[in-house]
Amino acid sequence: MTTPPRHRLATDTDNGMLLVISGPSGVGKTTITRAVERSIPDSVFSISATTRPRSDVDVDGVDYHFISDTEFDRRVAAGEFLEHAVYAGNKYGTLKGPVDAQLARGRLMILEIDVQGAKQVKAKMPRAFGLFVLPPSEEALLARLRARKRDTEEVIQRRYNVAREEIAEAKRCGVYDAFIVNDDLPKAIDEALRLVREAREKRAAR
Ligand code: 5GP
Repeated sequence: MTTPPRHRLATDTDNGMLLVISGPSGVGKTTITRAVERSIPDSVFSISATTRPRSDVDVDGVDYHFISDTEFDRRVAAGEFLEHAVYAGNKYGTLKGPVDAQLARGRLMILEIDVQGAKQVKAKMPRAFGLFVLPPSEEALLARLRARKRDTEEVIQRRYNVAREEIAEAKRCGVYDAFIVNDDLPKAIDEALRLVREAREKRAAR
């Protein structure tokens, strides 16, 4: 029998899994991600670093670590990111340290990142489970981007175009294990939870 390492916590398991959730902005991806985080007790949300300006609803250190362009580039050079990408003109990156630490503890580590980032992660960690959230239609996506009243019309159009390309690339690239259509939020959350639990059980059984 092997003795478990002494630094492990009571909630630690041997069932660590990296969950990558992507989808265009405005699709309800963050709501689904946070619901998964709340429903699975040992899950941890990875707080990305970004150079995007903080909006009124963003909390620094909770939603993102908001950092300057110079600081971002310094961290890239220092090899601190598991992946990083430019999305709609801003830089985003997942810090490697917390991901490694949580996976070593057997936690479910949740990354809410774009397709470019998901590809980098899957190349480095093929056992990561990729989930992509789709809008019911392109019209619905544009309507949602407008309804959240966060961006100017110019930014909305830019995000809309990025989103359409992102959906096409997600379907093409083979990185995602499952696609969920968010036409009914509670159903989409249930579906995400079912898929994640199933994937975790499968990985544990191997
Ligand atoms: P938003 O500015 O709407 O919060 O995020 C824009 C896009 O960047 C979303 O698709 C979001 O998932 C993605 N994103 C957030 N954090 C990261 C990250 O660390 N890496 C990558 N590659 N994309 C991210």
